[in-house]
Formats: sequence, C-alpha cells, structure tokens
Amino acid sequence: MPGRTLPGPDQRGLFIDGGWREAEEGATFTVRDPADGSVLASVADGSVRDAVDALDAAVAAQAGWAASAPRDRGEILRRAFELIRARTDELAELMSLEMGKTVTEARGEVAYGNEFLRWFSEEAVRVHGRWMHAPDGASRLLTVRKPVGPCLLITPWNFPMAMGTRKIGPAIAAGCTMVVKPAELTPLTMLALADIFDEAGLPPGVLNVVPTSRAAAMSEALMADPRLRKVSFTGSTPVGRQLVRQSADQLQRLSMELGGNAPFLVFADADVDAAVDGAMLAKMRNMGEACTAANRFLVHTDVAREFAEKLADRMGRLVVGRGQDPGVDVGPLIDERAVDAVHRLVTDAVRDGARLVVGGSAPEGPGCFYHPTVLLDVAQDSEINRQEIFGPVAPVSVFTTEEEAVRRANTTEYGLAAYVFTRDLARTVRLAELLEYGMVGVNTGLISNPAAPFGGLKASGFGREGGFEGIEEYLETTYVALPAT
Ligand code: NAD
Repeated sequence: MPGRTLPGPDQRGLFIDGGWREAEEGATFTVRDPADGSVLASVADGSVRDAVDALDAAVAAQAGWAASAPRDRGEILRRAFELIRARTDELAELMSLEMGKTVTEARGEVAYGNEFLRWFSEEAVRVHGRWMHAPDGASRLLTVRKPVGPCLLITPWNFPMAMGTRKIGPAIAAGCTMVVKPAELTPLTMLALADIFDEAGLPPGVLNVVPTSRAAAMSEALMADPRLRKVSFTGSTPVGRQLVRQSADQLQRLSMELGGNAPFLVFADADVDAAVDGAMLAKMRNMGEACTAANRFLVHTDVAREFAEKLADRMGRLVVGRGQDPGVDVGPLIDERAVDAVHRLVTDAVRDGARLVVGGSAPEGPGCFYHPTVLLDVAQDSEINRQEIFGPVAPVSVFTTEEEAVRRANTTEYGLAAYVFTRDLARTVRLAELLEYGMVGVNTGLISNPAAPFGGLKASGFGREGGFEGIEEYLETTYVALPAT
C-alpha cells in the first residue's frame, strides 16, 4: 500500500551519533507488508563506511558513558520504558505491519520487550565487584567490574522489539556503547526505538542504529576492527557459527542466541486440557515463528489421540488473516520463502507416513499465509522433527516410556527450550536435570520472562539474556592484588 502513513517517527535513516542521516550515496532498501507484499517504507541502506562511522561514534562515546553514574543510566532506561509504555499502540501497529503478527500479539511484545528496559534500569545500580582476603591472609583481592566496551548487536525479524531491548537494556545499564543492526525485513520498530532513546536523553553515540541489506559485509568489517569488543547475536545457527569464526582474530566477547527445536512432552498423568492450552501458546505464539516454539510434540500413547484431537479442534478454529484486522488470530508468515519451507516440511512428513489432522495448505489468494496444521504419527526421522519449522504446524508422535521420551527429546543438535506436562513432581525434577536444554517449562507453554536467564545449550548457542545473568554479558572483570599492610 504505497503512500500509507505509518505510525511512529518519520525517520527512516541511519541513527548515528545522536542524529539521523542518509546512507552513503543515498542508498535505500524497501520494507514490505507480509500480508500483501506491498511496500511499507523505504529505509536507508547502510554501507560498510556508514557502519564504521557508527562504530567511530560508539568508540568516541565509550569512555564518557562508562564513567557516567549508574543511577543516571538507570533513569534513562526508565524514561525510555515510560515513553514506550505510553506509545504501546503506535509501536504495536508498526510492528504488526512490518512483521505480520496480530496487533494483540504485537502489544504483548511491546509489553514484554519493554520489561527488559525496566529490569535493567533497576540492575544498573547493582553492578559490584568484591573484596576478599587471600586464603593465606597475606594479601587482599579486589575485583572491579567494567563495561566490555563498544558492542555490535544483531537482531532477527521475528521479534523486532524484544530481541533488541534484551541486548540494548543491559548494554546501556552496564555502560557499553553500541551499533545495532536490525533485521532488514523488520527495521522500522528499531528505528522508532532509536527515536525514543534519543528523547529519553541517551547521549549521542551510545546507541547507533544501522539498517543494511549487506549484513555479512558489515559484520565482517566491524569484527575485524579491534575497537569492537563484543558481539551479541540473535538469529539462525549457521549465521551464528559464521560470527563465532569471524570473532577469532579480534577475540570479541560473544553472546549467541540461536535456533531451537523444542520438544513438548505430554505424559499420561498430565492434565490434557492444560497441555492443549500450553501447546496453543508454545506453538502458535508469533505464528510459530519463535525460537522457543514447540517443534516436536511427544505424547504418551495413552493420551495421544485425545491430545491431538483437542489440539486439532483448537487449531482448526483459528482465524487466519491480516494482523491488523479485528478477530484475526494468525497473521502471515514473514515471506513466500517461509511459506514454501513450511509447506515442504508438511508434505515430506505426510510422504513419510504422517496423518494430516487439520490444515496442511496455504489459503488461496495473496499474502504469505498458512493454515494452522496438526500432523499425527510423524516418523521420528522425518525432516520436520529435525528442523526448526518456524510456522503454525504441530507434528505429534507417541512414546511409551519416560526413558524413550527423554532420549528422543534430546536427539537434536539444539538445546534452547523444552516443555513438560506432568502431575508427577519427582518426574519434573528428573526431567529438569536430564533434558539438555537451557530452559524447561513445566505445565506451561510460556517460558520467556525478563527476570529469567534466557538462552540455550549446544547448537542453540551460549550466553543469557534477562535475569541477573543478562548484564554479566556486558561486563568485564579486573582483579586488583593488594598487599595486606
Ligand atoms: P538470520 O540468522 O538469517 O538473521 C539474523 C540477523 O543476522 C539479521 O539481522 C540478519 O540480517 C543478520 N545476518 C545475516 N547474515 C549475517 C552475517 N553474515 N553477519 C552478520 N549478520 C548477519 O535469522 P532470522 O531468519 O532473522 O531469524 C530467525 C532465526 O533466529 C531462527 O533460527 C530463530 O530460532 C532464531 N532466534 C533465536 C532466538 C534466541 O533467543 N535463541 C530468538 C529469536 C530468533
């Protein structure tokens, strides 16, 4: 819909050193509405030179920012939190347009993403080192916590705001400056956030935002620069691996929030209705385009049929449509490629013997939509059980023993989130220890919480966002040896 007036600030440029500017040679790229493919906005397309300018600004601001009072940093975060809260509807509308999720879900993301700013506004003043006697009493040990320094923060398209605030909040609180590279499919929300941080009083150069269609060239150039001290990345595992390799020369600190393949275990003793409620949340949040999305439903044979039928009934009643239309439950997927990838996984699973209970196709007409889908009796080695689906498809298969459920749940290279539904406390304790995942939800389909350490194991990466742990990713430690007298 060319010419549509978008909510939020008019700036579609690069935000560098506290000001808006065009990209080198006026380059731009377009952002499209996934519901119909229409152009939403034209955004400055940052070059490597622009990114280096942004890093220059971050480097110039670093020493002053590190020396600022933690209370002042906390209060800037708090002001940003209040501004965002006041503009929830506007930001939600913008995010829904660029990403596709329903406005209701987008409001949820604004609230969730904003909580990271509130949490880290409170954490800014709690950073501390320690003083201790050496064991032999001959000396004293002092530790000083310092910001790591200028950071590169790279975010994915699926949560345009929350994946940014999880990094920006602790970086600001710790006293780091930063260059943010939002996803090229959804940069508008991050540009709106830059405006808000500016209004909240963040000094020039602390936060720089450089959208680009040339992410690889940009990250390569910035990571070759010894002034960049940290990279925090949320995105796919292959790109994460590439960035880990790229960090070798300058040995930057890294946080890697990568892909997932979450198992959703339902035991025979579970409350099946509660499990279905949890499944709807864990599967359908963000149209299934979430790293924590339940990817494999492993259900005890005694309750599998009941669970699958109830889940299919709920999935079949969801209304698919444009995220801004009232009454819509499921918006479009991010692009045509996503629809094709999801449909291929479904058809392959059916070819491998799975039974289609509901869905299984894209609706007629324009836009990147896919019907909510439930598959039963999915073969263990089917591709759909091995890959992140990133769409509204629930593959269900059965197990008979707890040992089998745990083994199959752990049979993946990923280790981000797992879900367990059971009424047995002893089993809950066992599974929390045996499941090779960074996060385990027990009788709940919603794990994410700004006060909790979010992050994965194995190919899901390393580092934690949120909680007391979140700020640690942006702090270094210097140990000072002092004589006893
Ligand atoms: P992606 O890896 O394609 O892109 C993520 C970001 O990296 C984008 O901004 C992209 O432009 C940028 N990028 C791509 N190549 C790059 C390179 N060579 N150097 C630097 N930056 C580069 O992932 P995506 O498709 O945007 O996001 C979906 C993926 O993100 C899924 O795998 C999902 O599981 C994962 N994800 C993980 C978490 C988590 O917290 N673990 C949260 C959300 C999404």
